[in-house]
Amino acid sequence: MSLLEEPISELARGLRAREFSSVELTQMALAEIEAKDGAVGAFLRTTGSAALDQARAADRRLAADPAGASTLCGIPVAYKDVLCTKGVETTAGSRILEGFVPPYSATAVLRLEAVGAVGLGKLNCDEFAMGSSNENSAFQETRNPWDLGRVPGGSSGGSAAAVAARLACATLGSDTGGSIRLPASFCGVVGVKPSYGRVSRYGLIPFASSLDQIGPLTKTVEDAAHVLEVIAGRDSHDSTSAVAPVGDLRRHLSGGVDGLRLGVPDEYLAMDLDPGVRSVFEHTARELEAAGAQLIPVSLPSTEYALAAYYVLAPAEVSSNLARMDGVRFGPGVAGAPSLTEAYEQARHSGFGPEVRRRIILGTYVLSSGYYDAYYLRAQKVRTLVARDFERVFGEVDAVISPTAPTPAFRLGERVADPLAMYATDILTLPANLAGISGISVPAGFAAGLPVGLQVLGPHLGEGVCLRVAAAVEEAADLWRKLPSPTPHELRPE
Ligand code: GLN
Repeated sequence: MSLLEEPISELARGLRAREFSSVELTQMALAEIEAKDGAVGAFLRTTGSAALDQARAADRRLAADPAGASTLCGIPVAYKDVLCTKGVETTAGSRILEGFVPPYSATAVLRLEAVGAVGLGKLNCDEFAMGSSNENSAFQETRNPWDLGRVPGGSSGGSAAAVAARLACATLGSDTGGSIRLPASFCGVVGVKPSYGRVSRYGLIPFASSLDQIGPLTKTVEDAAHVLEVIAGRDSHDSTSAVAPVGDLRRHLSGGVDGLRLGVPDEYLAMDLDPGVRSVFEHTARELEAAGAQLIPVSLPSTEYALAAYYVLAPAEVSSNLARMDGVRFGPGVAGAPSLTEAYEQARHSGFGPEVRRRIILGTYVLSSGYYDAYYLRAQKVRTLVARDFERVFGEVDAVISPTAPTPAFRLGERVADPLAMYATDILTLPANLAGISGISVPAGFAAGLPVGLQVLGPHLGEGVCLRVAAAVEEAADLWRKLPSPTPHELRPE
């Protein structure tokens, strides 16, 4: 069995017992990427020699101070390509940033590097994280390791697929409307969307700044807690990062759900859910009840307006955030354009893909004079209602559970021509972003052979209770060891 099948705590033990070194572990990960990623397409680029340098440094550190080194010291990880990595090309999946080499690294990346984690490379994503399938990447398709004819989910599809195919022990993604939780559900891995402010966004190429969060994707809930503990916490480079201490997140894992009140939102369950997804959810809910949780029907009445509000607010922020991609400050300049305006137009026309253009146009429209009140302002009011729904519900229950997505992974190409169908994929995840609360997707079962995630939502800075419930789901489902390590044979493209 590949070492990459093991949870991080087991690898940390093996590293300290000198059963293997970080260099060996890293070489193994690089070999797996070489063997399998041609078919999966999770990585946009690997940083093999830098990874081996980091692994050698980690081995020295582990030898010098095994007890003092972090659990993540020497562990191979990888980063979604929206996270800036000093000296390593970072594209956000967009042509307009092709060749962009950031002069600094994101805080989340720096914090992992500081404890000795080994960065294997950069992971594919939808262009500027806009999408639910990874099909909006300008560079390549990423395929779901469970079924190479299906999408991995998006926008952190490379991050989820890399963990599912056991190419990295943990990855970072970003979640603006579901982009960590959705691919986690589709690929059968754990994905955490931390509360707004829990993780610094310094060095994250912004999509919608009032919604974006960085979080981990891992095989197990405990692995996610390890990574979150390292990346979370105040950062003077991000004024929106929360001052509240992070604390020991792992202590929540063994809490169990006995005595917890878990809300089940009527509006989420009333949706048109795939029957397999519904049955996995109902089965898991019964297991949680058997483990002592009290299941309480709750109402989130503003849910029906959340999707529309999100697709006004997120594009509005896109139109502003992406204004800097003008071919001068960022992006390839245009030689010989007759005027500055035309130079901008040409750079942006050739640099952005259709979905990004659609968002910029939508966002500019909803912010324009005469339409601002009717769209943007109204959507902000809906956002407040969505947040109030959750506030009221968290007065009655400790956490909320639901399916993560209405369906399992869909086929490549299936929703490309229908943006509304693509947007609807996020219906169960984006309310949490509008409200700024914490959430996790944890593997709960299978529908027609495809993984299905269960979403746990907690209050703002309620990562602890999310992890606690997710750990109970993981235990009930007993799945993660059964998750695939697809062999090169299975992964050979048809
Ligand atoms: N799929 C959603 C969108 O396209 C969410 C993306 C995300 O969370 N980054 O906006």
